[in-house]
Amino acid sequence: MLNSPTIRPTMRVEFTLATKLAALRRCGGRCEAKGCGYMFKKVAGEYEFDHVNPAAFCDGDVGLNNIAVLCCACHAKKTKQDVSLIAKSNRITKKEFGLTKSGSIRTWRSR
Ligand SMILES: [Zn+2]
Repeated sequence: MLNSPTIRPTMRVEFTLATKLAALRRCGGRCEAKGCGYMFKKVAGEYEFDHVNPAAFCDGDVGLNNIAVLCCACHAKKTKQDVSLIAKSNRITKKEFGLTKSGSIRTWRSR
């Protein structure tokens, strides 16, 4: 009865229903963000599934150790942080490799 998920490398990998259900049982009806503890009223759309480590998520880590059940407010906050973290790490990599402007990647040619 289990369909193996189709994983396409260019697409975001989603959590399986089983992982989401396990996360819901683990959270005990509360937002899993540190210091929040918001009790869900258990209506759809009130909680969201977050990828704890966005980088691991890119590698397809969609296990129970990389999922958190968050209320919408915490999820919005976390998503903002993730976006700036990814942007920051991209900036650092660019700086390391001397890419100060986008579009400055040139093919190295031997003389
Ligand atoms: Zn929360």
